Amino acid sequence: MATVVDSPNKEANKSALANKKVTIVFVLGGPGSGKGTQCGYIVQHFGYTHLSAGDLLREEMKSGSENGFVIKDMIKEGKIVPSELTIKLLEQAMLENRNDKFLIDGFPRNEENRAAFEAFTGIEPEFVLFFECSEEEMQKRLLSRNQGREDDNIETIKKRFKVFMESSLPVIEHYEAKGKVRKIDAARPILEVFEAVKACFTRGDIKVNQL
Ligand code: UDP
Ligand code: MG
Repeated sequence: MATVVDSPNKEANKSALANKKVTIVFVLGGPGSGKGTQCGYIVQHFGYTHLSAGDLLREEMKSGSENGFVIKDMIKEGKIVPSELTIKLLEQAMLENRNDKFLIDGFPRNEENRAAFEAFTGIEPEFVLFFECSEEEMQKRLLSRNQGREDDNIETIKKRFKVFMESSLPVIEHYEAKGKVRKIDAARPILEVFEAVKACFTRGDIKVNQL
């Protein structure tokens, strides 16, 4: 299978996904804003498949792949893993799955991620769910969630906040200019947040949006 990594010519390389009509919703927000939790509820209510870019990278890291060390270093430092790696993992997960509706959680994390994904797959998100939350609240959640993650320590958390502000917010701004962002106040209890999330999925104007 051709991948972004294999290709001598990135521009000409297109994913087989371009032939599989898929609906994608990007789920974005700072670390600890509740993306993963809310995605679990969306899956149950709306039949999407949840793909967490961070989880895919952590699985790849643990699988003993040659990219494992790069991924481990980047995650420990709160840095963004090279696009081709993340995009390849997302592509594989979508091609392997029979579903045609995907929540992509925690990606794209910068403008380069976004442009590379759109160029390779030919797909723009149906909309972007954006979880807004104060750093104070996110920090509290990250430090109390005890998921055994190497990056949930105060030093890495500060770096992740900085990367989010500097690199990830421009992605939100890009989609905001296209009228695709649905903003949620995520600093509330889980079920209250989900009520707001539900409303975003029942607007009735969801359709596949190919480039
Ligand atoms: N990461 C990345 N690219 C992605 C998603 C995740 O490089 O598209 C890396 C990055 O180092 C990030 C870490 O994985 O800090 C954890 O991401 P995840 O989405 O799991 O956690 P969050 O920061 O949203 O809590
Ligand atoms: Mg997550």
